[in-house]
Amino acid sequence: MEKREFLYDGKAKQLYATDDPNLVIMLYKDDASAYNGVKKSSIKNKGVLNNRISELIFMQLEKNGVRTHFVKRLDDSNQLCKKLDIIPLEFIVRNVVAGSLARRLDIEEGFVPANTIYEICYKNDELRDPFINETHAMAMNLVTREELDHITDLAKKINKLMIDMFDKVGITVVDFKMEFGRDSEGNILLADEISPDSARFWDSKTKNKLDKDRFRRDMGKVEEAYREVLERLSNND
Ligand code: 5GP
Repeated sequence: MEKREFLYDGKAKQLYATDDPNLVIMLYKDDASAYNGVKKSSIKNKGVLNNRISELIFMQLEKNGVRTHFVKRLDDSNQLCKKLDIIPLEFIVRNVVAGSLARRLDIEEGFVPANTIYEICYKNDELRDPFINETHAMAMNLVTREELDHITDLAKKINKLMIDMFDKVGITVVDFKMEFGRDSEGNILLADEISPDSARFWDSKTKNKLDKDRFRRDMGKVEEAYREVLERLSNND
């Protein structure tokens, strides 16, 4: 597989073309940003750790019938992925109240809601990824009703698999963000990454944060937290 031209520079990853038009290479960077790019820095070894963590999660999801863009990890920082037409929406699943939901509704972090909460944000840096609903997403022609129904089913299934996978290693899946895309035949596949950058993971017993909130809130030991997630998931293989 040959790495070809540079395609796109994201906040935490870069995308490269390959000699196969259906495949791209995703490079995980150490760059970290929060609050829509207001806070910027770098976290040592983050790229390597997230590349491995996301690989383990996506492989487990694939093993259980969830189709993802992940093909294989190429090396410490690079992943080979299927090329998709990315739907510019963020699908957020919340099992425990935290972050923006805690602020918006003035609910204490850690509160366990009566049901799982599903949210959609419009991926748009200038608008700071505004919170929208399904009718907004369809009105902007970003997705069809059928695609949204399928994504909702997938989100439920992925959440269940995530909870099972992390429960085994003593971690609570507080919330996480997913992105989806369409392949050349119009199939919906899970894209991007699931990692401590895009999820909240708490130690089930101590409630210690093992995710990017440590960076957002200047709590220290960020690299150690990401490494802890990787070690626990790896030791469970
Ligand atoms: P919140 O809305 O509480 O800030 O985020 C909810 C969950 O979605 C968190 O796990 C957070 O990391 C993830 N998330 C929300 N927006 C983004 C985003 O723009 N990028 C990434 N990587 N994760 C996000």
